[in-house]
Amino acid sequence: MTRLSAITPSGHAHLGNHLGAIRRWANQGRPGDLYFVSDLHAMTVSYNPARLRVLSRELLAVLVAAGIEPDQVFVQSDLVRELGALSWILECACSYGEAARMTQFKQKSGTGEPVGTVRLGLLTYPVLMAADILLQGAAEVPVGDDQSQHVELARTLARRFNQTYGEVFTVPTAVMPPTAARVRDLVDPSRKMSKSTQDSVGVVFILDTADLIHRKIKRAVTDSVERMEYRPTEQPGLANLLEILSACTDVAPADLATQYPTYGALKSATAEAVVEELRPIREGAQSLLADPAELDRIRKAGAHRATERGAHRLSSALRLAGVA
Ligand code: ATP
Ligand code: MG
Repeated sequence: MTRLSAITPSGHAHLGNHLGAIRRWANQGRPGDLYFVSDLHAMTVSYNPARLRVLSRELLAVLVAAGIEPDQVFVQSDLVRELGALSWILECACSYGEAARMTQFKQKSGTGEPVGTVRLGLLTYPVLMAADILLQGAAEVPVGDDQSQHVELARTLARRFNQTYGEVFTVPTAVMPPTAARVRDLVDPSRKMSKSTQDSVGVVFILDTADLIHRKIKRAVTDSVERMEYRPTEQPGLANLLEILSACTDVAPADLATQYPTYGALKSATAEAVVEELRPIREGAQSLLADPAELDRIRKAGAHRATERGAHRLSSALRLAGVA
């Protein structure tokens, strides 16, 4: 039973991505599972092409360096022809209302820009996501709350296609991964650490140097209460540091609070633990990035496998749809 997960190169991967997703993918993944860099999804908002190319490569290197088997990873755009074709087939099985109803579309299109200037891709990208899932025949898609509606759409489209034109697609199920700690921004603990945040002083990137990690954590916002206790609501900055250290050491945040006399001592210990947690990934990713031939080989092999995997489903879908 294949599980499919993706991460979008909308920025550099950070500690939250590692603790909340990548680490689990590497440790708990099963042999048939697939992971991909969803670079096509990064195009629904304004972006820089050269940067996107670099970020995609970097993210692929990070996934492999984190311990995900190289034969389980691929880059989405390496399947752009197949996905383009399947997206069209699925768009023609999807109503405008179904796409426009997506909460994420409503949220993202409702912020700032007048709706007339929002990219059409923002409306249709859940259909592309359905194509990602259905092309690979994934049975399970682990998602957070924000994406479960998109998997629901993929289910609907798979069922509808199967019933209308003929059985081709595995009907996927959204599975909720066990909740991992939500790592918060170090300078603004009211928001989560994000790849696409403009201001990166509160974000620890996986590829940051040890020195930079120390500096960022030292500058983390705490409070003036100066009370070493794990109280997420009252002392969110401090709680965030305790949660990060907890995720790196496997000791409960409340227990850690009793072990450090000052915020400074806790910050040093947290920085130390984060540096060690990220070290093997940083070093592994850097050596892959310094060996473009090896990274290209992994990428090509992944593209080949994923294309082969989807080939029969795509050709059956096209045939049943009355084309190609
Ligand atoms: P963006 O700003 O583009 O949305 P992001 O940093 O939120 O980027 P996603 O690509 O949305 O990252 O998410 C990739 C994976 O990382 C998901 O499984 C998500 O749950 C997890 N994740 C993202 N941010 C955090 C965080 N701060 N703490 C824990 N897990 C996180
Ligand atoms: Mg996100």
